[in-house]
Amino acid sequence: MDIRKLVKKEVAGLRAYNAKEIPCRIKLDANESPYGFADAVKAVSGIRTNRYPDPEAKTLRQLLAKDLGVETGNILFGNGSDELIYYLITTFGGPVSYPVPTFSMYGIIGQALGEEKAEVPLDKEFDLDTDTFMDAVRKRKPKLIFLSSPNNPTGNCFSTDRILKVLEASRGIVVVDEAYQPFSSEKGMLPLLKDYRNLVIMRTLSKIGLAALRLGFMIADPGIICEVNKVRLPFNLNALSQAVASAALKRKKEFRASIRTIVSERGRLLEGLARIEGVMPFPSEANFVLLRVDDPDRVYASLLREGILVRNLNDAVKGCLRVTVGTPKENTAFLKALKKIARSSK
Ligand code: PMP
Repeated sequence: MDIRKLVKKEVAGLRAYNAKEIPCRIKLDANESPYGFADAVKAVSGIRTNRYPDPEAKTLRQLLAKDLGVETGNILFGNGSDELIYYLITTFGGPVSYPVPTFSMYGIIGQALGEEKAEVPLDKEFDLDTDTFMDAVRKRKPKLIFLSSPNNPTGNCFSTDRILKVLEASRGIVVVDEAYQPFSSEKGMLPLLKDYRNLVIMRTLSKIGLAALRLGFMIADPGIICEVNKVRLPFNLNALSQAVASAALKRKKEFRASIRTIVSERGRLLEGLARIEGVMPFPSEANFVLLRVDDPDRVYASLLREGILVRNLNDAVKGCLRVTVGTPKENTAFLKALKKIARSSK
């Protein structure tokens, strides 16, 4: 029996998301934080394992709503924001539009669910190309638009006026994916939530030290939350993650301190990279840096031989690698190794 013949054609044509575990000494490939919250894990000690978790995550919801200055009814949780992308596309359908290059899951999930995709290239500065985007909005009438700002993998924020243009022109939902907002000098879209009924803001705890929990959330008008909640799987947030996240969210000072360190290290990384011949880093508002090198496949392999894992993006952004900001020691080791590799190619 040929199983592939049974699979939906959209799924058969997909390539699985590349999330392999590659052994390494210094892990700078997945935009995680190098700083965790080991102490918060103590919060799971009283959990009753025989009962389902709180389906509404009330404790966590209240903490987060207070923190963000929104109502509890403005929030919907996902098992990572990846799951929310699934829910949003399941709820609203396609066409699904997004600029490229961007986070690959919008396209993968859109295709898996059999929806049409409308991809629009970014301009030379990696900003939204409003003319082309507006054209796509008018012609393809997307039900959903995903804008990752700061954008993964380019690292920049899209200009606010361009995001607003898209929001105003769209008859569908515009999801601004702010996974990297905590590292950005821009305020993000939260202050504008009340002005745009079709705006969804997506955030995650994955980039600020809690990737292991799988906890993402979206903030939107309760009307949108109510519709998306219909497709949410019951008990999608397990009790352990709820408890650890709630305990961690009470440690705002630690969050802020680790974000400050990462932002300052990003500056040091950018300066160091700019000084290496044959390496061109792009400005970043996120916890990673995109860099163009002469021979990305060779540089990627040479770094890995030194035990340093980065992301090779040569397929998606020609000539580019992406490196996550690590601890000061890790960043120094990365810069030193890259300098040596660049020198050896001369
Ligand atoms: N959005 C963007 C832009 C991302 O880069 C990522 C993670 N790589 C996600 C969403 C998914 O994050 P989560 O861990 O919350 O599923």
